[in-house]
Amino acid sequence: MFEKIYSPVQKLELLPFTNLFVKRDDLIDPYISGNKWRKLKYILLKAQKEHKTRLITFGGAYSNHLVATAAFASRSGLKSTAFVRGESVKNEMLMLCSLFGMELIFTDRESYKDKKRLFEKHFGDDEQAFFIDEGGASIEATIGCSEIINELAIHYDHIFCVAGTGTTAAGLLKGIQDHNLKSKLHIIPVLKGGSFIKDEIEKYTPLSEHLELHLDYHFGGYAKTTPELIEFIKLFTTNTGLLIDPIYTAKMFFSIIDLQKQNLIGANEKILAIHTGGLLGMFGMKDKF
Ligand SMILES: *Cc1c(COP(=O)(O)O)cnc(C)c1O
Repeated sequence: MFEKIYSPVQKLELLPFTNLFVKRDDLIDPYISGNKWRKLKYILLKAQKEHKTRLITFGGAYSNHLVATAAFASRSGLKSTAFVRGESVKNEMLMLCSLFGMELIFTDRESYKDKKRLFEKHFGDDEQAFFIDEGGASIEATIGCSEIINELAIHYDHIFCVAGTGTTAAGLLKGIQDHNLKSKLHIIPVLKGGSFIKDEIEKYTPLSEHLELHLDYHFGGYAKTTPELIEFIKLFTTNTGLLIDPIYTAKMFFSIIDLQKQNLIGANEKILAIHTGGLLGMFGMKDKF
C-alpha cells in the first residue's frame, strides 16, 4: 500500500511560465488524490497498529477527503463510515464513496459541528472504530506532508501550495525547516480571511521566515469562483494539458502568474508548485464550464 509512489516533478515549458516546476502529487492515485494520500498515510498506519477495523470520518458532500478515506479503507481491508454534512444528497463523489463501501450518515449542520460527540454517540462502545478528523487534520498528516520535501532533488527558491485547513502547509513548513532549506513557502488560503492558517500551522511547527501567506487569491471564499478564475482554468488546461480544479489548485497557479507579473518573483528564480490533486472536486462545479 505504501511502497513506491509516482509523483514526478515536471517542468512547465509553456509561456507565460518561467522556471515553473510542478510536483505531480495528483498522479499518486485518482481517488486517494494528492495531499489526501500524504495526510492519510500515517493515520492509516496508526489505525492498523491499533488493530482498528473501521475508519470514521467527516466531510461535506463534495469532500476529496471522504473519497480518499473510502478508497484507502477498502484497499486495506477496513470498513469506513462518514458523517456527511447537510441533508441527504446524491452526487459523483458520494457515489464513489458508496462504491468503495463507505457507510454514509447525513448529519444536520448543527450536530455536525461537534464531531467528537457524533463519534461517541454512534461508535462510543465500538472498540474497533477509529476517529479521523475532518480533512484528516492531525500530527500524522503533517508528517506525511513533510515527506514531499524529502523527495525534492534540487533547490527551489519558492514553493507554492494552497491551504484549506493548513495541515498540508504545516507539513511542508516542517519539512523545509527540518532540511534547513532556504526555500520560501508561499501558502494560498482558499478561504476568505485566511490569516487563521498561521495559527493552524503553529499548532504543529513554529512559524519561521520561510512562510509567506497570500490572502487575496480566494476568489470570494471556499468553493467560490469568478468568471476570471474559470477563464483562467480553461486557458491553463488548454495550454498545458494539466488539469486543475476551481476549489484549490487553480487559485495557486493563478497566484504564481500574478506574482510573477508584479515582479514579486524574479524571472530566474525556480518555483515549485505542489499539485495537491483533488480533481474530482470539479464535478461539484460542472455548470460553471
Ligand atoms: C483537501 C485539499 C487541500 C487542503 O489541504 P489542507 O491540508 O486542509 O490545507 C488542498 N488541495 C486539495 C486538492 C485538496 O483536496
